[in-house]
Amino acid sequence: MRVDLHHLAVQHLEPQGVFVHGCFWHQHDKEHCLDGRLPKSNSEYWHAKLNRNVERDAKVQAELSALGWRILVIWECETKDEFVIKERLREFLDAA
Ligand SMILES: [Zn+2]
Repeated sequence: MRVDLHHLAVQHLEPQGVFVHGCFWHQHDKEHCLDGRLPKSNSEYWHAKLNRNVERDAKVQAELSALGWRILVIWECETKDEFVIKERLREFLDAA
C-alpha cells in the first residue's frame, strides 16, 4: 500500500486559527444576536468605532487565508452552549 506522505505532511502543517469574538465588540449579526446591536445613545460614535473592528477582522482573516490558514470564528454567544461549541470545533477540525 502506497501512502502519500507529502499530502499527509501538508495537511498536518496547515496552520489553523480559532478566533473567539465578543458579540458586541465584533458586531455579531444583529438578526441573530441581541448582543450585536448598537447602543441607542451615541450610535454614530459606536458605529464608527465598532465598524473599525469589523473591518480589521475581515482584513486579518483575509490575510491569514491568503497565507494558507484555515480560520474558524466562534462568537461569544455560541460559547454558552457546550454542545454547539463542540460541534463547531469538531466540524472545523474534521474538515482539515
Ligand atoms: Zn452573538
